[in-house]
Amino acid sequence: ILEITKLQKSYGEIEVLKQITFDVNKNDVIAVIGPSGSGKSTMLRSIVNLEKIDGGSIRVCGDHLVKDGIYAKPQEIKQITSKMGMVFQHFNLFPHLTVKENLELAPKMLKIEHAKVIQQRSADLLEKVGLSDRAAAYPSKLSGGQKQRVAIARALMMNPDIMLFDEPTSALDPELTGEVLKVMKQLAEEHMTMIVVTHEMGFAKEVANQVIFMDNGRIIESGHPTELFINPKLDRTKAFIERSF
Ligand code: ATP
Ligand code: MG
Repeated sequence: ILEITKLQKSYGEIEVLKQITFDVNKNDVIAVIGPSGSGKSTMLRSIVNLEKIDGGSIRVCGDHLVKDGIYAKPQEIKQITSKMGMVFQHFNLFPHLTVKENLELAPKMLKIEHAKVIQQRSADLLEKVGLSDRAAAYPSKLSGGQKQRVAIARALMMNPDIMLFDEPTSALDPELTGEVLKVMKQLAEEHMTMIVVTHEMGFAKEVANQVIFMDNGRIIESGHPTELFINPKLDRTKAFIERSF
């Protein structure tokens, strides 16, 4: 469903992604772990086209967003990126819109569906994340955990084939991370394909079917969580995991 081949990206002189290659199959839940500055966010942002890569290919559901460093046409890019939903560390909700309006803005702007259909979906998704009673609230009135659940529901409004999460719980107070992880776990159980950058090793171990360890712009080790957490091949992976649990 997603093929990442030899991604390469530099900021000026600094190469932050070095030949990143991996595949995501339908229903995969991939946890991406690694030290600060290793390129995890840059990789996710590149996949959803919030950053431009300098070389390599990204293929989504069979279509190339970028092939050997050459990007698709703008109209194709729009269509390809609409298959992916992204959730950020800092929620990025529109502060001047209510919860319901946050969910409905993008689909209404696209004008490809009836308003009724959109409203039904936003109601369903708010129920799914346990926030039906907050539809009319503004983001400033919500807790961090509630904001993040709204952000997840908003990303789901476009019916994405893949959901990408960049440290969705690391800006939250510890007592609020559970409610967000629960929603993510539920999504995984419903067979959503997910890539999750996370420091929550318990979540990675329990929910992911593959863990990717990044260090210094490279994937240096990957595998099933039971294998990678219990029996890492490299000392660097082992040291990182021991620090993280
Ligand atoms: P963290 O765990 O702290 O979120 P990360 O693994 O997500 O780290 P990135 O944010 O992808 O790492 O950063 C990778 C490298 O790219 C870092 O060295 C960072 O300083 C650099 N970098 C990221 N964004 C920019 C930018 N806009 N301009 C220049 N350098 C950048
Ligand atoms: Mg990051």
